[in-house]
Amino acid sequence: MKKIDLHSHVGNFGSWAGVKSDIDSIIKNMDEYEVEKVVLCSANQYTNDDTEYAFKKYPERVFPIVFTNPNEGKKSIDTVKYYVEEKGFKGIKLNPLKNAYVADDVVVDPIMELAKEYDIPVFIHSGHPPYSLPWSIALLAERHPNVKTVMIHMGHGHGVYIDAALKMARRYNNIYLEMSGMPMGCKIKEAYETVGKNRIMFGIDAPFHHPMVEIQKVLTSGIDDKGIEDVFYNNAFEFLRL
Ligand SMILES: [Zn+2]
Repeated sequence: MKKIDLHSHVGNFGSWAGVKSDIDSIIKNMDEYEVEKVVLCSANQYTNDDTEYAFKKYPERVFPIVFTNPNEGKKSIDTVKYYVEEKGFKGIKLNPLKNAYVADDVVVDPIMELAKEYDIPVFIHSGHPPYSLPWSIALLAERHPNVKTVMIHMGHGHGVYIDAALKMARRYNNIYLEMSGMPMGCKIKEAYETVGKNRIMFGIDAPFHHPMVEIQKVLTSGIDDKGIEDVFYNNAFEFLRL
């Protein structure tokens, strides 16, 4: 069954994670697991050129998004402008946990305004206190109702945060959910049925997770066949305007 991976990284994470990926190995996995396209970002705000290299090498397979750190002020804005305008990037990646700002801090507003201007989605890491919790992401999405905001990991590994991701997505219709790293398959089904059939999407989060594990969570979620196709492919196809 064909798929679109809504969230993976290219690059070296080192440190506590001790994981890395290169685009050739990502593409090899994509071929093996029928993943047509990947929404790809770098490991951090300094290595967007890794994503650019991947996009140049596999333009049909890679949907490039720019990693930026709003704490860097003008530099953060310039980074987004450069990669969107000069390099054809099509989205923005934020990781409040890694870069130490609360997701709804005012420093993020100029980035959201750029996203609105370019009409591109913003992908935000979720699931870790104190910076990247679903409620904070929701407060940001509330201030920017015209920006499509993807809550990556939909609360991640904590049941209370997963529940909050669902509640916040039900409240704000510009919030979309991505399920990589989130262990409860049944919550994929709950999102599909209660948030919206088009607002829950499949992701892998390479190099942190193996495709087979993420795929199994969707397959065993209890959604019907049409739903599985939506989560794996149809929803992202529409969301990314492919
Ligand atoms: Zn990630």
